[in-house]
Amino acid sequence: LDKGGFHAAPDTDYGRESNLVKARQALTIVNNQLGKTYLPLINGEYVQTDEYIDSVNPSTPSQIVGKIGLISLSQADQAMETAKEAFKTWSKTSATQRADILRRAADIMEQKRHELTAWMCFEVGKIVKEGDPEVSEAIDFCRYYASEMERLEQGYNYDVAGENDRYFYQPKGIALIISPWNFPFAIATGMTVAALVAGNCALLKPAATSTVIGAKIAEILTEAGIPKGVFQYIPGKGSVVGDYLVKHPDIHLIAFTGSREVGCKIYADAAILQPKQKHLKKVIAEMGGKNAIIIDESADLDQGVAGVVQSAFGFSGQKCSACSRVIVLNTVYDAFVERLIEAVKSLHVGDAKNPSTKIGPVIDAAAQTRILEYIEKGKEQGTLAIQVEAPEQGYFVPPTVFTDITEDAVIAQEEIFGPVLAVIKADGFDHALAIANGTDYALTGGLYSRTPAHIDRAYKEFEVGNLYINRGITGAIVARQPFGGFKLSGVGSKAGGPDYLLQFLEPRVVTENI
Ligand code: NAP
Repeated sequence: LDKGGFHAAPDTDYGRESNLVKARQALTIVNNQLGKTYLPLINGEYVQTDEYIDSVNPSTPSQIVGKIGLISLSQADQAMETAKEAFKTWSKTSATQRADILRRAADIMEQKRHELTAWMCFEVGKIVKEGDPEVSEAIDFCRYYASEMERLEQGYNYDVAGENDRYFYQPKGIALIISPWNFPFAIATGMTVAALVAGNCALLKPAATSTVIGAKIAEILTEAGIPKGVFQYIPGKGSVVGDYLVKHPDIHLIAFTGSREVGCKIYADAAILQPKQKHLKKVIAEMGGKNAIIIDESADLDQGVAGVVQSAFGFSGQKCSACSRVIVLNTVYDAFVERLIEAVKSLHVGDAKNPSTKIGPVIDAAAQTRILEYIEKGKEQGTLAIQVEAPEQGYFVPPTVFTDITEDAVIAQEEIFGPVLAVIKADGFDHALAIANGTDYALTGGLYSRTPAHIDRAYKEFEVGNLYINRGITGAIVARQPFGGFKLSGVGSKAGGPDYLLQFLEPRVVTENI
């Protein structure tokens, strides 16, 4: 596979004391910058707003990470007009010129790696070891999409004698990027730079709870030389500004990552032709999952337990790829559950910035309440196998495992997006696969097995976008595990893969009789 010389950025090795020192220093630097005000970036200027929100630290909610100015609808219109104007020139720049801006952005991210990780620690409660790979992923998106665009700019040549037939791509127009808070840096960066490198102008509306990190992306792209109006950072309420722009007749493309509820609404709203709209909108909607790992009778149970625990509880289960169901064949069920409980006991829950913390908080009070309600439902529908202690102050939820859960129980069907794991017993491998496929989602899945026939069947029959065999199911790497699902997990081709940029482009063919 030609990756255009792309190599993934290595994560920081925290086994080295010097890197731990850098991480601690970055936390101190960021701590000293908390509480600043961040403004929207429209037409290359930071603009004042009428409305502000506070973004708080979920480990210590009284701590304000930043105050963010929210745009009004008239400012949204202004950003649209600016983008349309900027598109006239940007769409005509060469792919290499655009790619070079992404490469510069990647280099800046590399220089600021520790600080960016620290911002995620404060704003969304991500522990340093989980934040650092997210910075790598954002760097990878920039470098990979840069080389992908240069590849695509070559187009195709289908000439025959007497006739030139050229297949090439042009940008679509104005892209609205609506990003989630759970990978606040990598996903927002990935969707934005894909739109930009393809020659579109991009408006980034980050999630309310991760707007400061959105502002950091704006700072980096500006420093990398993105022309004014080509990229604009437009924090605003999703239900107001997001909704308004989705329906705007001049938006060509919406790249959304977030919940199923909002994704389905955007998909429907964008399909309605608005007065004066002269095109149909393209919607990329990456949504939730209800991901399962199957443990069969031949699995290495120690490996399986480690993979399940990391996949289920890393970042408090707030990854779209997180494992929330483990389906265990009855012959190994008791042995697996016993070891799982032992492993979960050792999870230390606490402030995300403490080096001893394995599991930090959840994002906000609403998430905390919602997850605790699911835990109550779990108690009605199964056996509470273990629940770890969690701090009372801050938005913490105790990591919780339920056993004896049936496949149709609420906690086995709905995305919880928290540190809650349902263990389900299967009567055989056929049954396990049927349970795994028995939800509305198809995002990630896993199998621990040393039986080639089972591995072969999982390849073919396990209905997920990303299947992992004998390893954890989170932590996809750009151009190695291009990422994304189907069914109600989303529409769109895989982020970090060879088809991704095509979604941001319009293919054309010119035939010349010579
Ligand atoms: P969310 O509540 O759907 O919010 C996502 C974004 O949509 C936010 O920027 C939000 O803005 C905005 N929004 C909300 N209502 C809107 C509306 N009516 N119109 C337009 N935009 C609107 O999701 P989340 O809680 O941030 O993220 C968690 C979800 O994302 C989970 O379901 C997870 O599985 C999914 N996810 C999927 C992937 C994947 O690749 N498949 C990756 C990561 C996360 P406000 O914050 O201002 O409301």
